[in-house]
Amino acid sequence: MQKTPFTNESSISFEIFPPKKWESFPNLYETLDALKQLHPSFISCTYGAGGSNSKKTTEIVSYIQNKLEIEGIAHLTCAALTKEIFYSTIRTFQEMGIHNVLALRGDKPIDMTEEAFRNRTYKHPSELIPALKDAGFTVAAACYPEKHYEAPSLEEDIHFLKYKMEQGADFFISQLFFDNEIFYRFMDRADKEGIHVPIEAGIMPITSGKMVGTTINLSGASIPKKMSDLIANYQDHPDDMRKAGIEYAAEQIRELREHGVKNIHIYTMNNAATAQSICSLL
Ligand code: FAD
Repeated sequence: MQKTPFTNESSISFEIFPPKKWESFPNLYETLDALKQLHPSFISCTYGAGGSNSKKTTEIVSYIQNKLEIEGIAHLTCAALTKEIFYSTIRTFQEMGIHNVLALRGDKPIDMTEEAFRNRTYKHPSELIPALKDAGFTVAAACYPEKHYEAPSLEEDIHFLKYKMEQGADFFISQLFFDNEIFYRFMDRADKEGIHVPIEAGIMPITSGKMVGTTINLSGASIPKKMSDLIANYQDHPDDMRKAGIEYAAEQIRELREHGVKNIHIYTMNNAATAQSICSLL
């Protein structure tokens, strides 16, 4: 397997999302300043499936890239993307000094009809990747150790994953998972299919009872017994839940590294303190 475009050795990277209000940007910039101290290989920033917060994503990634001088990755979804918006977004990224993109489909935006979603201009990120590569971007795409929820089988999902690589994806970032064995099996199957670009392992620290009903359910990730015991024991005790969730994530990362998985991507939920605590345990 190759190395990620941003690192030679084992690496940690982070995902953040744009705050709802522009007034919260100073807080986010403080979070980013704190994340920088953890020497990430890159920080990526999410993008609304309907493109609603595209301006915020662009501002944030430009800050990461140009002010913090860390590689910043702008997520870009194609669920509601027209040709015109796609090419103007490429130009804006270039003008703002952004040169890394995570190309995604996104899910159907709430305000979009089923029909409009079915008839969208770009069906899958594989249709964006060649144009992004031609424009000089480093391009990542998403992968799903437990398969994407629409894929009839993991085999078929991996088939299309390979197609994203063939269209030019430089590396993949995985959906979150809690069971490392599932990730190892996925890596073996991807390897057998001839997927030779790096795959970053997505780790989500579960630090509050609230995340159990939302984040975990939405991701569709399997819950191993160790995680369900943790939730049962601590979800009504916020401080203990946070501590146990951080320890679980750190343990997952330690085991992944022992198993040779070098590149870890932490879904920070904009919480630098959680990322700091995990890194201090590694
Ligand atoms: P695709 O690659 O299109 O895959 C979706 C389904 O289509 C899969 O079943 C796949 O097997 C199939 N498929 C893929 N290519 C083809 C093809 N060429 N022909 C036929 N079938 C195909 N969502 C957001 O709205 N904003 C974000 O910022 C965001 N960031 C994310 C970051 C990561 C790391 C991950 C893992 C997900 C993120 N998502 C984000 C969620 C993502 O948009 C959804 O999971 C979406 O449902 C699928 O996006 P995709 O890019 O994986 O789609």
